[in-house]
Order: sequence, then C-alpha cells, then structure tokens
Amino acid sequence: MAKLAIYPGSFDPPTLGHIDIIERASTLFQTLRVSVGSNSEKAPYFSVEDRLDALRESTSHLANVVVGSFDGLLVQHARDHDCRVLVRGLRAISDFEYEFRIAMANRSLAPEVESVFLITRDEYSFLASSVVREVARLGGDYSGFVPEAVARRIESKLAESRGDLNP
Ligand code: ADP
Repeated sequence: MAKLAIYPGSFDPPTLGHIDIIERASTLFQTLRVSVGSNSEKAPYFSVEDRLDALRESTSHLANVVVGSFDGLLVQHARDHDCRVLVRGLRAISDFEYEFRIAMANRSLAPEVESVFLITRDEYSFLASSVVREVARLGGDYSGFVPEAVARRIESKLAESRGDLNP
C-alpha cells in the first residue's frame, strides 16, 4: 500500500485550486510531497524559492505535507523517494488530453508508478496559474484566487514593478 504520494507541478503561482487538491490528497496518503518542477523552459513568474516559501506557508496547517523541488524527470524524482503514486488535478476535458499523454509517458518510463487524478471542485474549475498572472497584470482583484501567502507576494512584485516605472 502506498504511504507516500507526490503532487508535482509548476505552481507558478500556487492557487486555491492547487491548495484544494493538496488538502484533499493529504487525507488519502500518510505523507504528501508537493514537488515544484524547476526545469521549465519558460521564464517563470515566481522563482522556485518564492513558490516553495508560498507553498510552505499555505500548507502549514497540514502536518503530513512536505514541500520541495525537483529537476529532471518526474519519474526519477518519484523513484528517488521510493514513491509509487503521482497525484494530478483535473479541471476540464482540455486538461484530460494533456494529463493523459503525460501519464502514459510516465507509465512507459516507470510502470510501477501510478498516476491518480482528483477532480477539481466546482468553484475552482476555471482557476489556473495563468489566469491569476493575467488578472494581476491587468490590475484585477486576484485575492479570491490565491492563498494569502501568494497574494502578498504578488502585491510586492506589482509594487516593485510600479516602483521601477515611477522611480
Ligand atoms: P503543470 O504541472 O502542468 O505546470 P500546474 O502547476 O498549473 O500545472 O498544476 C499542477 C497540477 O494541478 C496539474 O495536474 C493541474 O491540472 C492541476 N490543477 C491546476 N489548477 C487546478 C484547479 N483549479 N483544480 C484542480 N486541479 C488543478
């Protein structure tokens, strides 16, 4: 029986949708490791360190959640931790195709590692990190989309860029 599961992602930034998946997955496994992928090709919004700090703060109420990062292959990261379960979240049909491909690739690389999917809650079904970034960039209210630890970090980032524009 699996004691440990890994919930991998970019979490750039973490949203309430991510936190909901973390809270629910943390009731299913003895330990849930939330792993921030640090090998994305795109320029990130937040540094890996900021994402880790924000995730740690936002999950501090969950005693069995551990937050860390990884680079390289996800299945190798799972093997390094002797972990046989990967948790992912599913919002809509559009997520399914992408998640299906990744899960099949991971299975062919590491057949002993299972992918399990938790379905989003209604109120978060539209919520994605890209939506948060866009709303923040356009001056909208993102506070209902992210945990407080993330809202604070977005606010400082916006203040910093306003400072750069109006020294
Ligand atoms: P990726 O790992 O593809 O960069 P993210 O970091 O945005 O994606 O998300 C990590 C995982 O969480 C993915 O499986 C994604 O589908 C899922 N997820 C993201 N937002 C939500 C949400 N609002 N509800 C449920 N699952 C979500």
